[in-house]
Amino acid sequence: MGKVYLTHPGGSRIYCCWNCSTALTNKSEMMSNRFSGTTGRAFLFNKAVNLSYSELQVRFMLTGRHIVRDVSCKNCGSRLGWMYEFATEESQKYKEGHVILERALVQEVDGLPSGE
Ligand SMILES: [Zn+2]
Repeated sequence: MGKVYLTHPGGSRIYCCWNCSTALTNKSEMMSNRFSGTTGRAFLFNKAVNLSYSELQVRFMLTGRHIVRDVSCKNCGSRLGWMYEFATEESQKYKEGHVILERALVQEVDGLPSGE
């Protein structure tokens, strides 16, 4: 079995996989906490690490047509949210390349003190 190499995002508030607690991103990467996912509230992050990405999918949302990839935990494979690859509406372009993590699918925990 291949070893899964994981990256630690750092930061003082960390968002982790609900299932295996792999660290995914931190609060300073959060762009918005007002998104909706399939399980309810969702967060938009500038970037996240330790994710696996699905094939491209077309999804119709309230804000128009988007090309997305589902994202799951690289360590345990649990589904966590999706990433925006491409938005057709001009007003939604800011989301491209960014990641949605559903609140019900992540845990928010205290990170290590930075020591600076
Ligand atoms: Zn996991």
